[in-house]
Order: sequence, then structure tokens, then C-alpha cells
Amino acid sequence: MKSVLFSRFFILLPWILIVIIMLDVDTRRPAPPLTPRPYFSPYTGGRGVARLPLRRGSPGRRWGKRNESRPQPPPEPQLPTIYAITPTYSRPVQKAELTRLANTFRQVAQLHWILVEDAAARSELVSRFLARAGLPSTHLHVPTPRRYKRPGLPRATEQRNAGLAWLRQRHGNQRAQPGVLFFADDDNTYSLELFQEMRTTRKVSVWPVGLVGGRRYERPLVENGKVVGWYTGWRADRPFAIDMAGFAVSLQVILSNPKAVFKRRGSQPGMQESDFLKQITTVEELEPKASNCTKVLVWHTRTEKVNLANEPKYRLDTVRIEV
Ligand code: UDP
Ligand code: MN
Repeated sequence: MKSVLFSRFFILLPWILIVIIMLDVDTRRPAPPLTPRPYFSPYTGGRGVARLPLRRGSPGRRWGKRNESRPQPPPEPQLPTIYAITPTYSRPVQKAELTRLANTFRQVAQLHWILVEDAAARSELVSRFLARAGLPSTHLHVPTPRRYKRPGLPRATEQRNAGLAWLRQRHGNQRAQPGVLFFADDDNTYSLELFQEMRTTRKVSVWPVGLVGGRRYERPLVENGKVVGWYTGWRADRPFAIDMAGFAVSLQVILSNPKAVFKRRGSQPGMQESDFLKQITTVEELEPKASNCTKVLVWHTRTEKVNLANEPKYRLDTVRIEV
């Protein structure tokens, strides 16, 4: 009797076990593999490598979805673009000057560099330089007529006007985007704070300039937030006794005064700034920057003429090197 029971039990046992296992497998999720799947197998040949970006791509897609559902911050009010017009001409220190300038400008948000060569064509040196400068830029050129290339005559008149013409052409047909223009000679020194100051220019803003006019600095004199005169050692009778590096103009003002340009005719050296500003603003309207014009944030530095006395006339170097 006992043995009959035992034999029946052993016949049924495997079936009972099979039913239990089946039920268990049905209700359980598939178990994860013991070893994580490799991203790709080096043994699958070239296709394995090709699959790598696909696999990596899938978390990327998940990210994308998450970004979509994440609440977006409100859009930032549009930062006015700063347009820097730089006249430049070929000379041994040109690339060094442009390098210093680009290193400064690269740290300024939303800056567009308008580089205007004093030349009959765009040079290879400047083109190559700009292509690698990592800055939004426009490369123009216009030669100064020979008769104006004399000591004592104003410099870079045609180049600054070419920059103005480009701005007017580019923005002529549309409502002006917020923008500020300033004239950035290639040899001056600009602090980063200067760009913060000029960015809020509504019409025309002014500030002190260091190392200019035979003094440590020149500056607009300010009373009750208004310009009332000029601290200068040179021709204090100028209506705007200010250097090219000492002011900025809003794009709107440039567009609404389409005839305002730098003049050759009737303009004496040193009067360029004043003659230009007379066409677009009044002294009363000027907006003083840099703590009511008490801080120097730009310097009218000048680079020493380089000594090339030992430059060989023959037996040149075996390679041609751009300097
Ligand atoms: N410049 C130019 N052509 C020239 C002389 C100067 O385009 O024949 C540019 C120069 O690169 C600089 C600006 O005009 O950006 C002012 O020139 P410079 O610095 O010689 O004048 P300064 O500082 O003596 O007023
Ligand atoms: Mn200079």
C-alpha cells in the first residue's frame, strides 16, 4: 500500500513542479541577464563599431524628450548687438594688434566685428585671421586715396564710412534690431567693463579715454547726470572734445541719420569725432557712462614702430612665415 502511494507521488511530482514553474514564469518579468550587454562587441567586425553611436543615441533621445517636457525658462530679453568697426592697415604689427583685439572681443557676448582693411582688396593675412578668430564678423576693404595718406591728415575716414554704409545697408529695410556701434581702432586697449557700459546706449553715450591728448586721460565733465563740458588739454573749443574711442552710438541713431559720415572736406585732424557727432546729437543729449565719466575703461595706446634693422635683404629664411 505504502509503495503504491510512493510511486503515484513520484509520477505526479514532475507534473506538479512543471505547473508551478509555468505559473511562476508567466507572472514574473523577464530576469535581467547576469552580465550587462556590451555596448558593442569587437568581434562583430565593422558593424559593431557602426552600432556604437546608435546605442549611445538612445539615451540621447530620452534626454530630448525630457527637455521637451521640462518647463522652459522665459526667453531672455534680446541683448543689443555691439558692432565694433575697426579700420586696419597692413604693417609688421598688424596681426599682433588684431590678435589682441580678437582676444578681447571673443569674451564679449553678442559682438559683431566689422573689420575694414585700408587696401584695394581683402588681404590673405586678414582673411585667414578672421576665419579662425571665432567671432561673428564682416570683412570689408576700401583703400585710402593716396593724396590723403599724408602725416597730419585724418586717418581711416573712408574705412569708418564703409563700416557705417554696411550697417545701413544691412539694416536698411527692416525695423532696427537693438544694436550699438562703436569705433574700435586696432591699437587701443579695451576693458571688458566698457562693453557692459556701452551696451545700454540709448542714443549716444560717452566715457573717459586714457592716455590721450597729451594727458593721462580726457573725460566729459558731468553735472547732475548731464555732460556740461570737457576735461581736455587740446582744443577745448571743440563742440565734442572727445576721442574716437570715447563714444558709442545706437544703431537706431545711425539709421535715422543716413547722411551722417566722417568728412574729409573741411575737417581738420582731430576734429573728425566732433564733426561726426555734430551730425547726430547734441551735447545735452549725451549719456554719460563709466560712473558719470569718472572711470577709464579704454586706453588710446599706440604700438611702437617695430625695429626691422636686421631683417635680411637676401639669404632669407628657407620657409615663408606669416607674422
Ligand atoms: N589706419 C588705417 N590706415 C592708415 C592709418 C591708420 O586704416 O593709413 C587705422 C589704424 O589701423 C587704426 C586707426 O586707423 O585702427 C587709427 O590709426 P592710428 O592708430 O595710426 O591713429 P592714432 O592712434 O594715431 O590716432
Ligand atoms: Mn591708434
